[in-house]
Amino acid sequence: MPVDKERYQGIVKELAAAGVQLVAVSKTKPVEDVKALYDLGQRDFGENYVQELTEKAAQLPADIRWHFIGHLQTNKVKYIASIVHLIQVADSWKLLQEINKQAVKNNRVIDCLLQVHIAREETKYGLDENELDEMAARLSNSPLANVKIKGLMGMASFVENSDVIKNEFHFLKTLFDKNAGVLSGGSNGTILSMGMSSDYKIAVEEGSNMVRIGSLIFGEREG
Ligand SMILES: *Cc1c(COP(=O)(O)O)cnc(C)c1O
Repeated sequence: MPVDKERYQGIVKELAAAGVQLVAVSKTKPVEDVKALYDLGQRDFGENYVQELTEKAAQLPADIRWHFIGHLQTNKVKYIASIVHLIQVADSWKLLQEINKQAVKNNRVIDCLLQVHIAREETKYGLDENELDEMAARLSNSPLANVKIKGLMGMASFVENSDVIKNEFHFLKTLFDKNAGVLSGGSNGTILSMGMSSDYKIAVEEGSNMVRIGSLIFGEREG
């Protein structure tokens, strides 16, 4: 299925007006689709799988900014350390230490977001509020020289009820404000990555400044 150009350009306009950055989530989609969007001006792309990211990056223009948004195993950080633009899923000290180690090896600083668990669904991924507090304390006591924590990322519950989604995003925004002290934004400010195809409008209303949109632009994924 070809990229929906009209829809993409509509979303870009809408988000630009709100000052929100768009990450186009290209997981499972072929490089041709990524290239088609690239040719329309898109530079930020999100991928969930390490091997898929490295294979695509090798075939696509070097100025693409790759965001890693899937679950990241510690032993796979080394494969993306030289190419990744923003790791959005840092959720343990062990993972952050490994990202720091690989960043040192590659003589660079790797930007990260802390992933926060705000949804109702049980999942192993993401920090809860207490863990986020602990992480913030740890980062201010022993900062990692080659990791920059630029903000927070979260996913709302997969439910129809928009009040539930709204409350979860609202909660993440309060955590974002509360932890502003440990986030280092740089010239573009700090990042609050929340909102996907089905809920990005709610996320933007609740203060998101980065959305991750896949199926709405690239079409539904198979499987
Ligand atoms: C797949 C994915 C998205 C995009 O989902 P869509 O519903 O296709 O927009 C966003 N964020 C994360 C973390 C994802 O895994």
